[in-house]
Formats: sequence, structure tokens, C-alpha cells
Amino acid sequence: MYDPLNDSRIAAGQAYPHSYWAQHTDIAAPTAPLQQDVHTDVVIVGGGYTGLSCAYQLATRFNREVTLLEANQAGWGCSGRNAGFVLRGTGRLGLAQLTQRFGIECARLFHQEYGEAIAQVKQMISLGNIRCDNQPEGYLKVAHNAAMAAELPEQAALLQRQFGYQAEYLSPQQLKRDYMHNTQAYGAVRFPDCFGLNPLALAQGYTAMAKQSGVQLYTGSPLLSWQREANGSFLLQTPKAQLRCKQLILASNAYTPKGLYPALNRACLPVLSSIIVTQPLSPVQLEQSGLQHTQLVMDTRALKYYYRKLPDNRILFGGRSAVYGKDAEKAVYPARLLAALKACFPMLTGLDYDYHWSGWVAVSYDDLPRVCEAEPGLFYAAGYCGSGVSFSSLAGVRLAELASGVAVPALPIYQSQLAPFPLPAFRRLGQQAYYQWGRFKDRYL
Ligand SMILES: Cc1cc2nc3c(=O)[nH]c(=O)nc-3n(C[C@H](O)[C@H](O)[C@H](O)COP(=O)(O)OP(=O)(O)OC[C@H]3O[C@@H](n4cnc5c(N)ncnc54)[C@H](O)[C@@H]3O)c2cc1C
Repeated sequence: MYDPLNDSRIAAGQAYPHSYWAQHTDIAAPTAPLQQDVHTDVVIVGGGYTGLSCAYQLATRFNREVTLLEANQAGWGCSGRNAGFVLRGTGRLGLAQLTQRFGIECARLFHQEYGEAIAQVKQMISLGNIRCDNQPEGYLKVAHNAAMAAELPEQAALLQRQFGYQAEYLSPQQLKRDYMHNTQAYGAVRFPDCFGLNPLALAQGYTAMAKQSGVQLYTGSPLLSWQREANGSFLLQTPKAQLRCKQLILASNAYTPKGLYPALNRACLPVLSSIIVTQPLSPVQLEQSGLQHTQLVMDTRALKYYYRKLPDNRILFGGRSAVYGKDAEKAVYPARLLAALKACFPMLTGLDYDYHWSGWVAVSYDDLPRVCEAEPGLFYAAGYCGSGVSFSSLAGVRLAELASGVAVPALPIYQSQLAPFPLPAFRRLGQQAYYQWGRFKDRYL
């Protein structure tokens, strides 16, 4: 599997992974690769939610001439292969940690922005009439042990008190009665406004909206290299043609190949996340497991598991995977996920999985993303740390605003670039050490 930390180029025109989503989504015919030289106002690199949302905004709101280059298919990266959790937030810091780091006023602004991100997804779904199987709202953050459970009532109270957010604490008994017979669940906080959807269908919808708004979209067209011209504009090289543009927007996020923009590469750690989708559960299995609802679920482990029931009663179950791309397809990783699912729900013995796939998420050094102008005329949004379905749509809006000279909210994530990892050559070693520690913590602490 392509590994952005090792490969200096991304292959072109690859098919979607063999995911549940690719088998259950109407996929539009791909657009043609770029064959002729182009002169344009803005070029966006990457056809995921970030790039498509940015392109749509630039074209519709700012009347700009936009060309979007996607190496593979629209939504081929994370956007077409994620778990479809539309969450309130991005990065790896909760509101309590944001308050500690930036103060309460700034944390409130983050909270507002995260709500804006969910609203942005809903607005796009409605404007584009996107059929993406959005499910009823609700996300359960489930404590996987008694120590984590002890913190939950105060977490819910803090969200209500400091942020006016209607988070609800669920005792182990309430959780069991209403939501799940998970033997490793000790209580939960319920977030009322998050919801699940089909992520590839959402990406297809964004693609149609971008195309209808006049964006020139070329799939199978990787940006291979770029340079500045004497007047400060950009000259871009693709396999068959060159582009000249005034502004360049990198929306390739975790999939950015090593050679494309070294400053971005040094500031992101691409981490694999893996998903299995089980066979459909029988009515008896649904009743025994309690998984009769479509609430999103994630636990409090250092190495988190996340799951949800899909419309056809299968369970989507995900978590961390291999460290290196070359190991991503090894059978041990889906087997581990299935074993973890059954450890939580022993009544599902005998259940197997039908789909397994993986994708790269971009982890940043300080656990927060950035949306910024990295140097004159060159913008990027990256580092969502595996939480980007809602935020990427808003990041596209903010990128378009930055590129059009419009003020964005005064948040730290819009005011600086991603910081490089110290000793970037040793990031994978650091990741392996973190996984060892995480496994120990999740089992014993
Ligand atoms: C298994 C998995 C599960 C996840 N689950 C969730 C979830 O439930 N909820 C959530 O909030 N987040 C989740 N995420 C994260 C979320 O999917 C991402 O944060 C989000 O989709 C990022 O969107 P993006 O547009 O920035 O990047 P991407 O969708 O990754 O798009 C980047 C695109 O850039 C293209 N590209 C790269 N290099 C070039 C180049 N040189 N030229 C042209 N094109 C290029 C790639 O082909 C790719 O299509 C998950 C991620 C994974 C992998």
C-alpha cells in the first residue's frame, strides 16, 4: 500500500479500495485526466472533502476560476473510506484540554467552530440533495474501564456548564438498558448532535456540486512537482500537462507524497486506521448485543475502537492498524479488530467480517490541525488527526476565505502553520513506542 512517509510520488488512477462503501454507493464516471496545458486562477490538489469543499466555495461564493487535480478518483483518500462519523471536533484535544491550553474564551470559540462544521456538512447535504444515508443523531463516548468511567459525570457537567452543550451522562445501567450489552463498557457521555453517514456518497455529492459550480476537475492527475515563476506565480507539472496559476492550495492531507512539500511532510505523521464490516447481524444477535440503534460509538482507550451499526444491520468496527503501508493488508489486523469486537460483545461468537480496508490519517505534533497560508499564495489544510469528516468541510470554507482575503475566526488553528516533528526521521519509531505504551495502558491502567 502507498506509504506517504516513504513514497515520493503517489500512483495515478487507482481504483477505490474494496470497501463496504465502494460496494454500496452509486459512483459517477471518473472525469478525464488533464491532457492539455492550463492557465488558471487557483489550483487545488486533492479531491477529498477539503479540496472539493474549498473548490465549491471558491467557485460559488468568490467567483474564482478553479482547477482541481486528484491523483486517483474523487474521494479516493480518507474521504471515501472513513467510518462516516460526523463528529463535533477535530484533532485529538477535547474542550477541557483546549481550555487548559488556550483559556476558556478560546475554547468556546473552538466549540462554536466545531458546531459550525457540523452545520456546514448538513448544509451541503441539503443544498446538493446528497443521498448519503444520514442516520439519527447521537454519539456515545464509552468508558472502557472504571477509572475512565469515574471522570465521565464531570465531563458531561463541564460541557453543560461551561459551553451550554447538552451532553448527557449515561450510567452503566442506562447504557446497558438503552444502547449496548458491551462487557467492556462502564458508562458513557452522549453527544446529541453528531451523526453517521455513508462517507463515499458524501464525497460523490461534493464532487457533483463542485463540477456543477464550474470547477474543472481532473482525476487520475497527480501533481508531480511545482516551482515558482519569476513573478511569484506557480508552474505545476502533471504526467501529461503543465498548469500555471496564481494560488496553489494543497488539500492532499495525509496522502501528500513525501516529495511534494517537505515542510508539510515533516509536520504530519501519516497513521493507518483500519475498518472491518461484519456480516449482517441476525435479529437475535441484534437483541443480544443491544446494538439495535444507529448511535456512533467510540471508547476511551489510548488506542481507540469505534463502531456503528450500518443500515443493513452490519457492524462497522475500526481502530489502529499496521505502522507501515507495506503491512496494511496483513490478515492479522482485521483478525485483531474482529477479536476486539467479540471481546466487547461475546454473544457475537461466530460472526465474521466481509470487508476490510485501511487509510492514512494525518497526525500533527501538537494534536491540532492547521488551515493556513504557508507562504505567499500557497495554502494548505492538514493534520486532522483522524477526525475530519465535519471539519474538512469547514476547512474548505476557511481555505477559500483565506485565499480570497476574507477574515477567518481568530483561532490558533488558523493563525500558524503545523509545527515540524522533532527528529522527523524517527516518527515511526515514536509511533511504535506509543502503540506499546497504549496497549499497556489500555490493558492495565
Ligand atoms: C479508516 C478511517 C476512518 C476514519 N473515520 C473517520 C470518522 O468516522 N470521522 C471523522 O471525522 N474522520 C474520520 N477519518 C478521517 C477523515 O476521513 C479525514 O480527516 C478526512 O476525510 C480528510 O479529508 P481530506 O479531503 O482532507 O483528505 P483526503 O480525503 O485524504 O483527500 C486527499 C486526496 O489527495 C489526493 N492526493 C494526494 N497527493 C496528490 C497529488 N500529488 N496530486 C493530486 N492528488 C493528490 C489523494 O489521492 C486523496 O484523494 C477516518 C479516516 C480513516 C482512514
